[in-house]
Amino acid sequence: MNTKQRERNQPNLRVNAERLWDTIMETAKIGGTAKGGICRLTLTDSDRQVRDWFVRASKSIGCVVTVDEMGNIFAHRPGRDKTLPPNAIGSHLDTQPSGGKFDGIVGVLSGLEVLRTLNEAGYTTKAPLEVINWTNEEGSRFNPPMLASGVFAGVFDRDFAYAREDSNDKKFGEELERIGYRGKTKCGDQKPGAYFELHIEQGPVLEAENKTIGVVTGVQGQRWYDVNVTGRESHAGSTPMNMRHDAMVACARMVEAINKIALNHAPLAVSTVGLVEVKPNSRNVIPGSVFFSVDLRHPNDAVLSEMDKELKMMVKEVTRETGLKIELENIWNSPSIKFDETCISLVRAAAGDLGYSYRDMISGAGHDAVYIARAAPTAMIFIPCENGISHNEIEKTEPEHVAAGANVLLAAVIAQDKIEPRTDR
Ligand SMILES: [Zn+2]
Repeated sequence: MNTKQRERNQPNLRVNAERLWDTIMETAKIGGTAKGGICRLTLTDSDRQVRDWFVRASKSIGCVVTVDEMGNIFAHRPGRDKTLPPNAIGSHLDTQPSGGKFDGIVGVLSGLEVLRTLNEAGYTTKAPLEVINWTNEEGSRFNPPMLASGVFAGVFDRDFAYAREDSNDKKFGEELERIGYRGKTKCGDQKPGAYFELHIEQGPVLEAENKTIGVVTGVQGQRWYDVNVTGRESHAGSTPMNMRHDAMVACARMVEAINKIALNHAPLAVSTVGLVEVKPNSRNVIPGSVFFSVDLRHPNDAVLSEMDKELKMMVKEVTRETGLKIELENIWNSPSIKFDETCISLVRAAAGDLGYSYRDMISGAGHDAVYIARAAPTAMIFIPCENGISHNEIEKTEPEHVAAGANVLLAAVIAQDKIEPRTDR
């Protein structure tokens, strides 16, 4: 049987669900916590251990492993045509300090399972395939998150990344060296032909709608603001109501109004005031100043701009009504990302062909795919997680959902390999 015939005869390739689940449970022991989660902060000894495991596992199935200068690991499975860029599958093996067993890990280990499945089937793709473990997705030891995929995509430069410090003043570059994962290849040199990332949803939507697969079409835009309200501290008993300059009352009005801004742009807009500091924070003193944060998100940047306008107008109005000094500062913007139409349609078709229930959705959280989308055609696949909980040791996802996600990943990657490589990038 030649390769063409074999491909035609293997239309229903499926991953080995049990092996994938066992692999997830096996690596979960590295940095495993008593409550069943994982603490595997980036560039720690446990991160090195899981990297060593990944390198060994990849080599044992015939991959050529390279590590770039940011410690990103590439497990390369040759294709029939060496001149084509590899189609890549990736995510991260690092976790939060009290992280779960699935966030990021499902993506990398499903990639490995895809390669194992193809090996067993004797299926050689036209373009090479690569499974990538990105360094420091979580950003919990070294800020910012998605640091190494960011360098790969040219969002951050390498030396900025090397200079990041953890809370013990240890530098990223030195820790990378210490664990032996400062590779030689220049980060970002070899862009994938296409990139797919499987991840748990980290939200409650799929579970609530009883859907197995989320076809992720993009990542929402996000804007952060700081607000400082200055009133005047005075006695809570002896200051008449009409003579007060109460910073907290102004804050409360704005919190309510900020909530309404998102409701006005339902159902996709969200707005949050998650951090409030009241001074002097005393029971019998009228608050003299309040600091609070604002987080606005929407998948469409034009709507986000509209929300930004409404926020500014509202602040002006509350300033006028209360006579207090209110300073609003926009401290960070992250534009929305639209994933590649072709890659998205391959994921959607794979979910449909495999008979899984699915829906299109926008990611509420950041992922390596957000940055890789700038460097290569990209799409993501979501699977449900119990109660939408993640970044938590109790994070849970069902074995059949992991298997479904990996099967969609496999089918999407095979379908991607069959389309003509694009020359528009
Ligand atoms: Zn993640």
